[in-house]
Amino acid sequence: MAKTTLKNLNIWNGSAESIDSGIDAVVIEDGRFTFVGSSEEVDKDARDMGGLTMIPGLIDAHVHLCLNPDLKDPLAQDKPAAEQLLDEMAVRAKEMLSAGITTARDLGGGQWLELEIRDRINRGELVGPRLVCSGQPITSINGHCHFWGGAAEDEATALQVLERQVAHGADLIKVMATGGNITAGSRPVDSQFDQQTLTAIVAAATQNGLRVAAHCHGTDGIGNAARAGVTTIEHCSWVGDQGWGKNYDADVMAAIIAAGVWISPTVNAGWKRYIGTGGFETLMMENYVRMRAAGAKLIASTDAGIPNVKHHHLPIAIPVFAHFAALSPAEALRAATSDCAQAIGLGEVTGKIENGFSADFLLFEQDPLTDLQVLANPAEVYKSGVPVGLSG
Ligand SMILES: [Zn+2]
Repeated sequence: MAKTTLKNLNIWNGSAESIDSGIDAVVIEDGRFTFVGSSEEVDKDARDMGGLTMIPGLIDAHVHLCLNPDLKDPLAQDKPAAEQLLDEMAVRAKEMLSAGITTARDLGGGQWLELEIRDRINRGELVGPRLVCSGQPITSINGHCHFWGGAAEDEATALQVLERQVAHGADLIKVMATGGNITAGSRPVDSQFDQQTLTAIVAAATQNGLRVAAHCHGTDGIGNAARAGVTTIEHCSWVGDQGWGKNYDADVMAAIIAAGVWISPTVNAGWKRYIGTGGFETLMMENYVRMRAAGAKLIASTDAGIPNVKHHHLPIAIPVFAHFAALSPAEALRAATSDCAQAIGLGEVTGKIENGFSADFLLFEQDPLTDLQVLANPAEVYKSGVPVGLSG
């Protein structure tokens, strides 16, 4: 297998506070880094990268490949035939990788088509990110996204839905712990399952070697999910009777920390419209200050596929996320690389520029650790050591 040696790089390894000037060369063999260190230790004929900045490939912890962000009505999503949907998903996957998203976690659809895309990418038939997929989310009768087929009326049927995802080859389990916005008749504040049912779901997932991602808007549901020991809490919107974001609860936050649960806040690029407007912006920023003071572990995610949220927009969402959560560039990038990889079960595979890790990385003319806006324009994208054409 070909060996690639690159030198004269500025390398941010995915976890450090800053770029280590003593490390400026990598060797890639069979898709992995086999050396990360000084140019003085590599072959003289290594490719000179002219001082480009290298960071690990970005990871979006929450996408829906099957959803067309231009469609407002979720019931219109599945109307086209499966082959057409697969074609559209293949285009999205290619756009994501070209934008620098080398890994993504898909948190749900109705027909397991994203698992088909995952497998085609893994077989080299399609170009796209490394995907981990949940299949159908477990939800309540007429609950959030029930039209995807994962509705369950009690614990026993919830576990049947879970087994169905396992049989289809899901990489993790998604559960809707509360209602959501895009489903008529479902209210974000309402819990859909009690803690006992969520605990049973986590136990069954764990038996199958799978993690659990829980969709949680309402504070009550956030608490149930945290005490049940899910792996990630999606959204974490602190919705209560007072309204969106207005029911932050220190005890629930303490339960999240005690259980070591990651928070995936799905701040998308569209939130830019709130910057400088006060109101919602101030409320959200206050919540992130309190969450982070309590020790919250945040990962980058966008909920790509919901109306107006494009699949390839994580790079432009990261500076917006950093604004709302008051993250330094290094903190924001960690949330989108090494920390995100750890939360989705790939912490020893990708998200770091380190010996043995998959050679998933981006190259930039400027330094994203100085200005996160730079993320929008990678000079080169590599997945598993292979350069990705950026024209498409
Ligand atoms: Zn979602």
